[in-house]
Amino acid sequence: MLIGLRDMLAAAEKGQYAVIAPDFTDFSVVQLLIEQAERLRAPLLLSFSPGLKYDMTPRQYARFIRLVREEAQIASVPLGLHLDHAFTLADIREAIDIGFTSVMIDASREMWEVNIERTCEVVQMAHAAGVAVESELGHVAVGSQYDAQEDQNDHHGWLTEPDQAVEFVKQTGVDALAVAVGTIHGVYTGEPILDFKRLETIHQMVDIPLVLHGASGTGPENLRKAVKLGIRKINVFSELVQTLRSELLTGLQADPSFHTMAHKRKAVRQVMDLYLEASGSIGVVKDQPVGLVSRVNELFNNGYACSESVFLAFAERGGFASDIALQSLSMFLGGLCLKGETCGALMGALAVIGAVQSSINPVDKTRRETAITTGKACIDWFQQEMGTTCCRTLTGINLNDPEERQSFKDQQIGPKVCIPALEKTTRWLIKNLEGFKDE
Ligand SMILES: [Zn+2]
Repeated sequence: MLIGLRDMLAAAEKGQYAVIAPDFTDFSVVQLLIEQAERLRAPLLLSFSPGLKYDMTPRQYARFIRLVREEAQIASVPLGLHLDHAFTLADIREAIDIGFTSVMIDASREMWEVNIERTCEVVQMAHAAGVAVESELGHVAVGSQYDAQEDQNDHHGWLTEPDQAVEFVKQTGVDALAVAVGTIHGVYTGEPILDFKRLETIHQMVDIPLVLHGASGTGPENLRKAVKLGIRKINVFSELVQTLRSELLTGLQADPSFHTMAHKRKAVRQVMDLYLEASGSIGVVKDQPVGLVSRVNELFNNGYACSESVFLAFAERGGFASDIALQSLSMFLGGLCLKGETCGALMGALAVIGAVQSSINPVDKTRRETAITTGKACIDWFQQEMGTTCCRTLTGINLNDPEERQSFKDQQIGPKVCIPALEKTTRWLIKNLEGFKDE
């Protein structure tokens, strides 16, 4: 399932591990990363760098990201969708609009004031949309600039100062802080030398999760130590693309059948085995997810409409998550656009039945009729069980009226009426559709 950065990193802090944040390059890599996360029962923060989006048209980019979101929603482990290293507000605005769950603003090469100002702007924009923000203080440079042994002064000039980190977090309200403690983007030209003392001090002084960029080539021992001293998110890109590249090159040379997926799988598995082990996140996801009834409640309490809550919970389990379906279902809020007509829980249930039983082929009458029969049975059951299918009769509230909408909250109609209706509807669907259990 898709979850936000804050929840993901709070769990990491509690469990004293780090979440691996690999940058993906194409959809097959996303699928393979999720496959490995599910195999090793680890959460993952799927990351995408805006640098790669320029190879796509805006439409291709938006559809690609939607596919990634939907793939993440049907996974059995928690996944986030993170925009990595955005340098412009336009890239961040676009990412929020197309469904990234967190973003990184990188103004780390700018002056202190500019970094603060830009980060504040992003925090304001992202938080308004419920999206978490990572920012970088100090600067994680690229490999060619790195010579830890010979140029200690310059090198240390980039590192994060603990006092400044405290002030930066206080002034910006950022959710996660990328720190420069000696790692490097790309390929190291010398031995990686991490300033663990500095990391430990920052962790003691700053109360938000810390992020380590430039993990490629840093080595599992250094990474394990960094996690022990407070790193909660580890970015990896170079090592993943290098391994993918070499596996594809050698694999395809010996394999005329063009099994790219198999070669990519080998590479992704190799890198994820290494990083997930070093992060301490293997096995942290409990095999038993929350039950369907609880999940519907959780979604409803997180602000989804009745119709969306039912659909998304079943879509996650049934593998048919669709952002567009969800957007369409949001129109059924409050009995069709707040008009108090058909109850959203019932509309969501019909959408689930359609997704499970109907066919996209208009000529496939058999499947379509099966779905219609189940849908009718659901409507009849709802009418009998609840006494009505009408939202306004059920809630006793005219949601179209702003004052009455307030009394929806004051009188706790959600917990008293909507949640019981959602629970009953969910149980009916579990009983009447194949392949769903309340666990
Ligand atoms: Zn980075």
